[in-house]
Amino acid sequence: MYLTLRLETTSYTKDQLRFPDLPQIALAGRSNVGKSSLINSLAGQKKLARISSTPGKTRSINFFLAPQENFYLVDLPGYGYARCSRVEREKWGELIQEYLQDNHHLAGVVLLLDSRISPQSSDLDLAHYVDSLQTRLLPVLTKADKCNQKQRQLALKRWQKLLERAHKPILFSARTRQGQQALLEAIKNLVQA
Ligand code: GDP
Repeated sequence: MYLTLRLETTSYTKDQLRFPDLPQIALAGRSNVGKSSLINSLAGQKKLARISSTPGKTRSINFFLAPQENFYLVDLPGYGYARCSRVEREKWGELIQEYLQDNHHLAGVVLLLDSRISPQSSDLDLAHYVDSLQTRLLPVLTKADKCNQKQRQLALKRWQKLLERAHKPILFSARTRQGQQALLEAIKNLVQA
């Protein structure tokens, strides 16, 4: 099962931001976490979202319309990329915050976390921020194919404990499509809730 997605708008600055009149599910995560790969995997396409081997390339908010389900999947800029300037990082942070705060159509935030990497303060900051907005958080542990069974279970337990108020984390791999159906179901439930 795939999700039909169509890129509708891209916003690079706060002035360009728009708040469509439909439910929105935001996708957040550190640069290189596998966000573009996940969008392409959900859509069953290869090049809908850019995949870069150079982290920190996606600097815009991209609005993907799911025309059949009537909601937007909103791709936020990857955060936590150390090699770009502080000013640039702050600019993206502000853009993310501007979009998330007071957004009455925000139905949930999917937080992508690399299943191999230990929890980072930037991830926890974002999770707490989403919590403070009283928006539902859906953690997705990416690149699950790179872990063995024991590592996967450890990652699952660790994140479940840290994000106890969130949805149970979903193990996901864009390579094997592990977790794809569970993720699609969880997203649709958020949209309908
Ligand atoms: P983004 O910066 O968050 O959009 O991350 P990308 O989707 O561009 O992925 C970053 C790198 O991780 C690329 O080299 C991808 O091929 C790789 N990658 C992403 N998802 C997976 C996955 O599920 N399994 C594996 N093995 N590699 C992945």
